[in-house]
Amino acid sequence: YYHNNTIIYLNGAYVKAAEATTDFFGQSLHYGYAVFEGIRSYQTASGETKIFKATEHYERLKQSALALNMPYHWEPDELIEATYEILSQNNLQNAYIRPVVYAPANMSFNPNNESYIMIAAWEMGLFLGEKLLRVMTSSFQRPNPKGFRIEAKASGHYVNSILASQEAKAKGFDEALLTDMNGYVAEGPGANVFFEKNGKLYTPPTGNILPGITRATVMEICKELNVPVEERLFTTDELKQADSAFFCGTAAEVIGWQSFDEVTFPAKWENTIGRSIQQAYKNRVTEAAKGELIKK
Ligand code: PMP
Repeated sequence: YYHNNTIIYLNGAYVKAAEATTDFFGQSLHYGYAVFEGIRSYQTASGETKIFKATEHYERLKQSALALNMPYHWEPDELIEATYEILSQNNLQNAYIRPVVYAPANMSFNPNNESYIMIAAWEMGLFLGEKLLRVMTSSFQRPNPKGFRIEAKASGHYVNSILASQEAKAKGFDEALLTDMNGYVAEGPGANVFFEKNGKLYTPPTGNILPGITRATVMEICKELNVPVEERLFTTDELKQADSAFFCGTAAEVIGWQSFDEVTFPAKWENTIGRSIQQAYKNRVTEAAKGELIKK
């Protein structure tokens, strides 16, 4: 993620990652009380480096912080500018960008009157790889929205993601799918889920999931492609009857599934709506014209 000369943005300054410090006596490290974002930049067709949906990500960072009662005093434009600056200082084009808002020294559960911010960036391939995924139903459910602010991208929630992902890998699968507290399909550890049945897409509604920015982009693409999408609750049994399925997220982009538990999906990925969306997504983030590209 970083080397000796990597520069990060830390509370208004551009500093060497290797020399940056943080406090060991804060709520963020001990209690997972922090919020973060995962953003990508792309070298676009014109050669320029562009952060995809930068405003949306920094707006969600703010909403996540406010949901956790963290003081937040940054404007999206100021953080976007800082992000472009670290991309430039680190000579990055296709980058994964990780802002984290964290708490000052405080071992109590009391509110803080200050928050800190760090923004790092590094080159990163597709989070779930490029091969079709073998996915399993996790024995872990997503955090109960009555116990967490599930719509916030809060660091502590990711203990759940790590457990689910580790379990799936230990059982020989590529990734986990988690249900919500009522047993309906929710999302992956770090991605939202869609399935295709009879020419239509289905995805869980917001409420028990992270409202993904890629999920929103997929729905925008569906509008363009005239693909009907329905947001509604469904079970893992219904998902097993699907023609195909895919995960989507900033880090994973759009990635198809080969199988789910014991079921292999009948449709060939090449012929699915998911595949068309995967290509349209690549075009969109790289600002390539339709039919141009497709650089894998
Ligand atoms: N769900 C979870 C739990 C995630 O961590 C992510 C990744 N941020 C997503 C969904 C997808 O969100 P986005 O498309 O905004 O990256």
